Amino acid sequence: MPYISMNPILNRAQKMKFAHGAFNINLPCQAEAVIKIHEQLRSAAIIQVAEPATTYLSGNPDFLNGTLEEKAVGMKKIADKVRSLGEASRIPVVLHLDHGRSFESVKLAIDAGFSSVMIDGSSLPYEENVALTKQVVEYAHERGVSVEGELGILAGTEDDVFAENSSYTNPMSVVDFFKKAGCDSLAISYGTKHGAVKGLNVKLRKEIVVASIENMRHEKIHGTLVSHGSSLVPEYIVSEINALGKAVSGNGIPIKQLQEVIPMGISKINIDTDIRLATTRNILELYHQNPDLVASSKVYQLLNNKPEQFDYRNYLTPYLDDLLQERISTLELEEIYRALKNAVYEICAMAIINFGSIGDAYNLEVKSLEEMAKSYRGER
Ligand SMILES: [Zn+2]
Repeated sequence: MPYISMNPILNRAQKMKFAHGAFNINLPCQAEAVIKIHEQLRSAAIIQVAEPATTYLSGNPDFLNGTLEEKAVGMKKIADKVRSLGEASRIPVVLHLDHGRSFESVKLAIDAGFSSVMIDGSSLPYEENVALTKQVVEYAHERGVSVEGELGILAGTEDDVFAENSSYTNPMSVVDFFKKAGCDSLAISYGTKHGAVKGLNVKLRKEIVVASIENMRHEKIHGTLVSHGSSLVPEYIVSEINALGKAVSGNGIPIKQLQEVIPMGISKINIDTDIRLATTRNILELYHQNPDLVASSKVYQLLNNKPEQFDYRNYLTPYLDDLLQERISTLELEEIYRALKNAVYEICAMAIINFGSIGDAYNLEVKSLEEMAKSYRGER
């Protein structure tokens, strides 16, 4: 039934003081798994695809160097898939472009059928960020699609998102940004970090969340705040990976700190690294439990090329075509599908329960993209 934009989902979360996990995927079977676990836990589902993932979904394993044409192919493929799954599901489903880099690529995603997009102008000078975000908002809102902007710079790496140092979001600018750019939600920098290594003494600056929300209320701004770089990097998963012969190092955002900022006004928490870690642990276990698969496995070779590597996109390439077509050609591949899906179930369940979206799916007032487009027109 409902394939909708992110706007009503995050507004409801803000009002009810819980947050949604938003999960980055790179393969169609993962999208299916995200929806399935959200159905079971009765939560609305937010599936995220970053630009490099759209290249991977087009069939090009060199995902950091995709062309716009390749991205368009990957976007169409995943949008068709998620829309049909969403329409067949009883829970609300969102497909969101994560870290859109340019107006052109965001437009491609909207044209392909994404119901929500992010435009990341955070590395631009302030006024240019405002102008770019506003340009995206005009195109997106016409079509009922919600827009997330970003203000302030997060440290760390996430695919092609690199920043040496973080510069925290100024809560005074949050209101100005919402007013001028007109976006639905805003990713803020308040101490989180992209990637698996977030430092041992993470301390979220919750004052930034509180002050931003207070400023917004004073100025009657309806908008929601988003937390990027928020993987938990569960210690048990890192040790299980390393017990199976890897040398992955990492530490995440302590769950208690996230749970503290959620009622203050964080409505979406992005999770990417954790799915990569859990997938890699599952695939290592697969070969550990099925030693007969090892000798002939190209995946196994690639997996163990670099001890610190845990990005499944780099070692699943021998099966990329099959995974994209959702074909099961070998016993090994059947096990890989299981490993991929189980990782999604584990990480999503952890977030759905801990961030509080469990059980809320049917309380949401669902609005179609057409209805959203109408209400955006009315607001102007
Ligand atoms: Zn991010």
